[in-house]
Amino acid sequence: RPHDAIAQPRDLFGPARRNSAGIDLASEARLADLAEVLTVPWALRAGQGGTARPVLNPADRRDVVGEVIEAEEATVEAALAASRWSAPPAERAALLEGAADLMEARMPALLGPIVREAGKTLPNAVGEVREAVDFLRYYAGQARGLGGHRPLGPVVCISPWNFPLAIFTGQVAAALAAGNPVLAKPAEEVPLIASLAVACLHDAGIPPEALQLLPGDGRVGARLVADARVQGVMFTGSTEVARLIQKQLSTRLGAHGAPVPLIAETGGQNALIVDSSALAEQVVADVLASAFDSAGQRCSALRVLCLQEDVADRILAMLKGAMAELAIGRPDALETDIGPVITDEARDSILAHVEAMRAAGHPVHAAPLPEAARHGSFVAPTVIEIDHMRALTREVFGPVLHVLRFRREGLDALLRDIAATGYALTFGVHSRLDETIERLCSRAPAGNIYVNRNLIGAVVGVQPFGGHGLSGTGPKAGGPLYLRRLLADPMTAPVT
Ligand code: GLU
Repeated sequence: RPHDAIAQPRDLFGPARRNSAGIDLASEARLADLAEVLTVPWALRAGQGGTARPVLNPADRRDVVGEVIEAEEATVEAALAASRWSAPPAERAALLEGAADLMEARMPALLGPIVREAGKTLPNAVGEVREAVDFLRYYAGQARGLGGHRPLGPVVCISPWNFPLAIFTGQVAAALAAGNPVLAKPAEEVPLIASLAVACLHDAGIPPEALQLLPGDGRVGARLVADARVQGVMFTGSTEVARLIQKQLSTRLGAHGAPVPLIAETGGQNALIVDSSALAEQVVADVLASAFDSAGQRCSALRVLCLQEDVADRILAMLKGAMAELAIGRPDALETDIGPVITDEARDSILAHVEAMRAAGHPVHAAPLPEAARHGSFVAPTVIEIDHMRALTREVFGPVLHVLRFRREGLDALLRDIAATGYALTFGVHSRLDETIERLCSRAPAGNIYVNRNLIGAVVGVQPFGGHGLSGTGPKAGGPLYLRRLLADPMTAPVT
């Protein structure tokens, strides 16, 4: 149980407090320390050579968090030429465990960049560090069981901005644990956090040529994926980009003419079914967390709340009341529940969806936005009522929740409609009837199924995370099968 070894927030900040979304917060005693950590003027820099571009805080575009030098063609070429690593499993494991210790010790220095570069709230930032450390320790443990299995060779890790530390570290740790040298291309929005993660790994003793950071936009990723030396690709992001990578990989072959493996984790159109036996108060708390935590920017987030007709009005009224209590604003303020979305483009795309739904006649309810939101990319938590799953034509990656009413006799049809989206990531049931829970769970179109709880925050090593169809290729991250896909001889590798 690697996560047991991780410091809980209360160990770091004193006794836990809760904000309105039920998230553990720091105690008053340590708030002053925390404020200090957040106001440190960083001179963070990622990348080398070339021209620097400023990285701005999504909560306040006047705040320059640091600067990044994006990798040019020559930098990518030099990295590919240098990429190599050879270390036995026990040594790889020890190095990754050393990086975990360092990352844990550096948590105070990591929180500020996560809050300022990615716009994540403090509780979310603490969660990121804990999850990154969990990934390092979990895959280190898995590496020990690999014995003499052969790595693939150079692996490219293309990571998302929504978990700039946890998923970045998870991908890199897995590829390294399996013995592969890594070329890491973080999302262009969050290169600074990635550079701090890489520093932990290098300082722990992972050689520079075994792990190279190549900040930049999609062109850097495309160059890497196309290169004949690359033997595996790990990607977390949109379904659309996963398709592009898959197509590009289909035009070339890896070692001995074998196809190059891709591990892709993509989007979801995640549903929660609530029947009339569910406990309304618990439903509302879990819906708030599932739909609006991290401003809805999790691929696990709830997108469609399906309410049994008899209880729909009551739960919807309670939900709107609870939404009015959410604190939206700067993520460096401890009382904040909902921070910004990642960019102005993301905000505009989410708002375009809301407006299109409103124009099509769907009832829309949005929480009010505070004055401070005008300097950043904010979207108010929003509920949109729909009458069929078909009303959803794309994944909307933000704090927008669709609500759909159903009759009990329509449950099977509803499950079919959810499956018909093609996505299969997370799914939830709120019910106190065993028969309903079993019936829904046995047919749920999803990789991760949650009963009478929220849909987010899968725990490494305990709840392996991932879906199928439009949601990804598998294997699940943080699970016993993950490292196999990163080996040249997976069929004989042990499952531990
Ligand atoms: N593992 C995360 C969770 O369970 C989601 C990962 C993602 O959004 O990509 O909330």
